Amino acid sequence: MNDAAPQKPGEANPHVTLITPSAPIATPTHGGRAKCLQRLVRLDLPVPRTVALSFGTVHRIASGELPDIRAMLDIFGAGALLCVRPSSEDPDWGGPGAILNIGMNDASCALLAERIGAEAAACLYLRFVQAYAIHVERLDADLFDEIEDPGEEGLAAAMAAYEEEAEAPFPQDPAHQLAQVLRSMARAWEGTTARLLRQAKGAPMDAGLGLVVQEMALGIGRGECGSGVLQLADSDTGLRQITGRYLSQSQGREALEQGSPALFLTCDPRGPSLEETAPEAFKALCGFAETMRNRLREEMQIEFTIENGAVHILDGVRVRRSARAAVRIAVRLAEDGIIPPQEAILRIDPHAITELLHRQVAPGTRRDVIGRGVAASPGAATGKIVFSAAEAQASAARGEACILVRRETSPEDVRGMHAASAVLTERGGMTSHAAVIGRGMGLPCVVGAARMKFHVTRKFLVAEDGRTLREGDVITIDGSSGQVLAGAPAMVEAALDDAFQTLMGWADTWRDIGVRANADTPDDAATARNFAAQGIGLCRTEHMFFEADRLTPMREMIFADAPEDRKAALARILPMQRADFTELFRIMEGMPVCIRLFDPPLHEFLPTDRAGLRDLAEALDLPVSDVTRRVESMGEYNPMLGLRGVRLGITVPEIYDMQARAIFEATLDASRDGAPVVPEIMLPLVSAKREVELLRARIDAVAAAVKAERGRGFDYRLGVMVETPRACLRADEIAPYTQFLSFGTNDLTQMTYGLSRDDAGRFMSDYVSQGVFREDPFHLLDIEGVGELLAIGAERARQACPGLTLSICGEHGGNPESIAFCRAIGMDYVSCSPFRVPVARLAAAQLAIRDRMVSAR
Ligand code: PEP
Ligand code: MG
Repeated sequence: MNDAAPQKPGEANPHVTLITPSAPIATPTHGGRAKCLQRLVRLDLPVPRTVALSFGTVHRIASGELPDIRAMLDIFGAGALLCVRPSSEDPDWGGPGAILNIGMNDASCALLAERIGAEAAACLYLRFVQAYAIHVERLDADLFDEIEDPGEEGLAAAMAAYEEEAEAPFPQDPAHQLAQVLRSMARAWEGTTARLLRQAKGAPMDAGLGLVVQEMALGIGRGECGSGVLQLADSDTGLRQITGRYLSQSQGREALEQGSPALFLTCDPRGPSLEETAPEAFKALCGFAETMRNRLREEMQIEFTIENGAVHILDGVRVRRSARAAVRIAVRLAEDGIIPPQEAILRIDPHAITELLHRQVAPGTRRDVIGRGVAASPGAATGKIVFSAAEAQASAARGEACILVRRETSPEDVRGMHAASAVLTERGGMTSHAAVIGRGMGLPCVVGAARMKFHVTRKFLVAEDGRTLREGDVITIDGSSGQVLAGAPAMVEAALDDAFQTLMGWADTWRDIGVRANADTPDDAATARNFAAQGIGLCRTEHMFFEADRLTPMREMIFADAPEDRKAALARILPMQRADFTELFRIMEGMPVCIRLFDPPLHEFLPTDRAGLRDLAEALDLPVSDVTRRVESMGEYNPMLGLRGVRLGITVPEIYDMQARAIFEATLDASRDGAPVVPEIMLPLVSAKREVELLRARIDAVAAAVKAERGRGFDYRLGVMVETPRACLRADEIAPYTQFLSFGTNDLTQMTYGLSRDDAGRFMSDYVSQGVFREDPFHLLDIEGVGELLAIGAERARQACPGLTLSICGEHGGNPESIAFCRAIGMDYVSCSPFRVPVARLAAAQLAIRDRMVSAR
């Protein structure tokens, strides 16, 4: 800790600094409040005389070493009343409450009575006695419960109660009073409870506390006296609006207390206002507030006192703000020329942007938490519990919002997910089916809520605290916090307003890494465009087969034994895929679209329950027993590492041939009446160069055939999804067969850790809480392990093929910390769920701005 130099060299108490424009005061040594007060003094605002005690001084006070208290009192002069307030480095770390009216004793009370009246003087004295008793002597607050009179009578009663309980007269010496107040506040900061509380808010172990000792401006007395707060922007919306409260004959923040008869600030039909009661003071205050906004380059809340009509500024704190207010405030400061746009960009936490894109539980609302899981897809929604996709669809048909509750979801549930307002699953993690689909759709989703008991077939759910919830009961899913709530708390709507659009526009002028979206459907693509994605970085083609009319031909194709049967089934699928791709290309209007060929194990498309097996048997005209046997025979012990991805392409090449043909035909169709399309085709789960070599030859052949049939040419780009550790290590020999590599960090994380992405939710919270993992690695890229593989892959690929396009398309692509890493290793773009595109755009802009700032130094 770096103590400030004394105000005057050689002074007796060198670490007590009078706040003047040039005093050596800094936030890291004296705290934010002391520094802000100095800024206000520099602006020549009417700030009462204040001294600042450094962190070191306060620390020494806690261990019994007091500064020269009399010298400190001399700075204020005889008879001054003082208050002491905390000044921590970050205001969010808290600190002990302020103590006002220090210096009140029998003599000063009598003197003050002449100036402001006996009742008012007694009122100030009474307040100090109570505060001193409770916070310094640590007497029971109940002691003063019976006291109703705020003046002389009340004071006498309080004195009697104090003396009886403390077994001593109330201290009369201001130096003793001040010393005891400082000591109790310094000790309170060093106590275990306070330390744990602030550490929970991110404070370091050894965070220091400064204190400011300020001369009181009396809000009680003759003429118009009182106190209040004022700010020029609304904390919820950020709109320009004078907000705050003022209470005559009050001190501190009493005007803000519930039920206080405080005045409005501006004229208001609901009641009297400061503007009418004390127009001069009101005008002066607004002027001071404007000065603070312009010169401190921030929306500030002023804490003020009016003493006989004169305004005093006691403090200024940054206006508390919701995420949407933060954006509007930053944009308006920039539009008013107070800060440059790049500073507005830097002031917004990219994580907080997510709050703007979705409905949220209103801040401050009471939450009846019945369960917790992985916060897999942000936003909040309320609805009646349903336990199957069919019920979700029925509920939607009735116009009733519902929450789809499943053990885990599969392709069969996707229609139900579309119909539901949110999804809750017992199993799963950040990259499990429900999570990936939910994020893509912007559907709030909590997965892996394993501490709740799911009785899906019996249609009830047991909350963590033992409450039973049945089908039809109303719950709320908060996919931003991972909480499941009983009932329907108040919500705030998404806020994609003009301020948001302006900020995003500025961000794009700074960004130096591309941002694309993972989009599988026309709806996803439209959302991606709406959020200004620069193309599609991953279209998971298997997701195009979730609709009922698609699932059946897909299943027939999977069931086909003979090559002719498979060919026939594929011929039915081809036009569907062609139409899908044509639509995507049209929506994206010439922007790049990267299509990944089929990835999952085929049996994932097969039914698992009796009804599904019967439906399939009907469609195939086979006995249920045959179908069941076949489904069982296709099962794998470890499907995630089985016949999936490019392995399907090698063993059943007709599937990829069909997809390649559909892509090329769609390319020609879409290019005919729009911008020329250059499709990107991506092979998943590659681990060996021969896989790429074989499939490249087949896809080239399909391209040649389509060109010949249609008599028209086109270009296309072939790429590989690097999502096995071996593909990273052998990237140099894979790269020459490709035009691009895209890192699939979901599978890569799974394989690097040997950690199932579908089961990790069950134990992830234990792993994180015990510090095994700093964070869920499916959420926050593991820079040390998975990151090293990415770096190796990128470096080896670029060495072999310098012009190769590199990107990431795993879920980490939308995470600000992971984007920083991807940018640092030279990736060209990141691709993430459409709703995370704005987060990625902002985070990427901030990285570029910070780099520019560093190089400008
Ligand atoms: C990945 O593995 O990172 C990826 C994007 O693909 P998927 O999540 O579909 O396996
Ligand atoms: Mg993958």
